[in-house]
Amino acid sequence: MKIQKVMVIGAGQMGGGIAQICAQAGYDVLLNDLQEDSLDRGLTVMEKNLSRQVGKGKLTTEEKEAALNRIIRSTNLDDASGADIVIEAAVENMTVKTEIFKKLDKFAPAHAILATNTSSLPITEIAAATKRPEKVIGMHFMNPVPVMKLVEIIRGLATTNEVYTRVEEMTKSLNKTPVEVNDFPGFVSNRVLMPMINEAIYTLFEGVASKEAIDDVMKLGMNHPLGPLELADFIGLDTCLSIMEILHEGFGDSKYRPCPLLRKYVKAGWLGKKTGRGFYIYE
Ligand code: NAD
Repeated sequence: MKIQKVMVIGAGQMGGGIAQICAQAGYDVLLNDLQEDSLDRGLTVMEKNLSRQVGKGKLTTEEKEAALNRIIRSTNLDDASGADIVIEAAVENMTVKTEIFKKLDKFAPAHAILATNTSSLPITEIAAATKRPEKVIGMHFMNPVPVMKLVEIIRGLATTNEVYTRVEEMTKSLNKTPVEVNDFPGFVSNRVLMPMINEAIYTLFEGVASKEAIDDVMKLGMNHPLGPLELADFIGLDTCLSIMEILHEGFGDSKYRPCPLLRKYVKAGWLGKKTGRGFYIYE
């Protein structure tokens, strides 16, 4: 069956971006979050992103309006009854995700694929919360979604080839490049990236250099477009901490222990760009 209706769970940084590119690619989108004000925030960001594209001449005003008109707001998971695929992008927490998947399994039609944008949690465990593990898959978009080309696609133990192929095709229809990886904590992207960010936080914590110096070393010396601390602020320090905890627990190896300074910032509510303060201050 052709995928036409996409439900996105979570209207934050990632869910908003996923909803936007799906709408731009012509899919009908249901954007779900817990509260109306979260939907308002997500849609405002999307409106700004699309207007910027219009300003740059990459999009016409009509295309922008058409994309926005393809998005329907939802605060109720039973709206999944109208979806061919659900892409979950709520917070990085196994309890939250399994609760959502149990409900989606109940409400989504039997043919619907249930995908998660988790950065690091086991797909097989999320799938086990449903009675359709063969239709559960990881679809890991990168941030910012409208810009980054990669989508890591992760099969759970029971995911069928047919489901994999349909998700791969949908990814290409969004003008993204799918890369298949196996179901291990952090997959490839965060297994490699997050320990580097955590190590950068340790170098700050131990007084090896200032935050600006650490970021300069990695930008000027390694040709990274963003320094690791700027990148951590951009990703969200809560998300960084969750991923490090998942790597630490998943591999049982002390090399993945989260830096105490990262924990402290998260406890303080300094979550990075999204809260106005992380390692840097954002006006
Ligand atoms: P975010 O904090 O910006 O947004 C999360 C949204 O989910 C919020 O709007 C919140 O209200 C909503 N939410 C929470 N519980 C919900 C529920 N039960 N039902 C519906 N909505 C709910 O977080 P984010 O950065 O967009 O991350 C979302 C997911 O994407 C996480 O799993 C994260 O690991 C993953 N991810 C993040 C990045 C990144 O760079 N931030 C990159 C790739 C993947």
